[in-house]
Amino acid sequence: MQVSRFNYMVRSPKDPNLVFLYNSFTDNRVAIEEEDIKLEDLFYKIQQKFALNSEEQEAADGLKELGYLLDDEVDEKKVFNDWFEAKVKEQTDYLQITIVTTMACNLRCTYCFEKEQLQNVKMTPEVSEKVIAWLKTRIEQTQCKKLNLIYFGGEPLINVPAIRQIGSAMQGFCQQKKVDFNSGAITNGVLLTPKLVDELKTYGLSWVKITFDGDKETHDKMRIYKGGRGTFDQIFNNLEAIAGKIKINIGGNFNEETADSFYGLLERLKTAKFRNDLGIVRFKPIMEEMTNTPNEPMGSSCKQCIYTDKEIKQMIGLHDATQSAGFRVADPVNLGPCEFYQRNGATIGVSGKVYKCAAFTGMANTHIGDVSSQNFNELGESFLKVSNPFENPKCQSCHFPPICGGGCRANSYTQTGSVGVISCQQNYVAQALQYELPREYYFTEGNSTVH
Ligand code: SF4
Ligand code: SF4
Repeated sequence: MQVSRFNYMVRSPKDPNLVFLYNSFTDNRVAIEEEDIKLEDLFYKIQQKFALNSEEQEAADGLKELGYLLDDEVDEKKVFNDWFEAKVKEQTDYLQITIVTTMACNLRCTYCFEKEQLQNVKMTPEVSEKVIAWLKTRIEQTQCKKLNLIYFGGEPLINVPAIRQIGSAMQGFCQQKKVDFNSGAITNGVLLTPKLVDELKTYGLSWVKITFDGDKETHDKMRIYKGGRGTFDQIFNNLEAIAGKIKINIGGNFNEETADSFYGLLERLKTAKFRNDLGIVRFKPIMEEMTNTPNEPMGSSCKQCIYTDKEIKQMIGLHDATQSAGFRVADPVNLGPCEFYQRNGATIGVSGKVYKCAAFTGMANTHIGDVSSQNFNELGESFLKVSNPFENPKCQSCHFPPICGGGCRANSYTQTGSVGVISCQQNYVAQALQYELPREYYFTEGNSTVH
């Protein structure tokens, strides 16, 4: 018998005899009441191949059934590599495609990573037609069961005709091919109206993601019009007007000084008319190291980042408050691997160039192809090849490769000029588990322990 390399153990902060065991490959989470056997001792004995007594053997058999222990002959590294190849890198269940409809934006947020990039460039009808043809061919070639489209910018609603053209064509095609079609827009919300939402829904739009950067006072200092006026009231009122029409995900970007203002925002959201339309509510730190790098924008559709200890604490505090306020939150642990690692995850820029993800769209010479071909260029293939976390010595002894994959490679590229370097988020994942596993146990009704 062997101990899974993907196990991670957290001791309860309230009860020294209670441990939570997590496995990053299976996502199994279990609470174990330690009586005569200490889990660490049991794992040590198994690793050292010491004989187990009957009680220990019984406990080991139970843990094996749950995937925390494995037969000796299992090559777990190979199991992981096979899974990574088939279920991440070459998965064909779904296409995850972000479409940048324009680089233009009607706001000038103070921290915007795209500031240098914002130009009045829109995806033309000709390019949109090529995007449609590219998507259709890819669906036919992969025989995928689902298409997820995200409209992104700049501000994607500045180019509604592109959404109309692509959305209506792909909705019809997916219906015909019996492919599940899902699309949403990451928008600042300033241009949202009930009429527009009604129209876009007929082209398959099923969600919008809106950003509030704190309560009104804080948001209005950060998310501003070109002339400097704040946007909180405009966005909030627009959401009130579309209440009941579409799912609304809420994001928010904080820094050390503004994090506390999000508690006021949560209070405001609790009484909003659109309260029942809310999907995921998630706040995260502004990524200074990327925002300060000119011409290198960071996509905000992704979920992974590298955070400092202070940011992690603030993020966990806000996550807790969001959940206590009765809103849905994203699982803080089960992150990825992100679309960078998938052949069928990509971002299409305004001119029809294909990128590995939205973070690369403004970086010179990082496109991996264009919509005239399904093939990736040499760079695209090399991006996919670097993405095996077990090539890195740190990852080889880490518990988290199945939910990390080596981290944000766009961040690696910005920092080092190479996607071959990992962007390690071990510290974040470990702290998120130390928070999340006890929280799930103590706040979930009807929980049970294994003895
Ligand atoms: S590489 Fe980074 S920016 Fe790109 S999708 Fe992954 S986590 Fe997001
Ligand atoms: S990058 Fe860090 S967290 Fe991710 S698998 Fe490697 S060592 Fe673990």
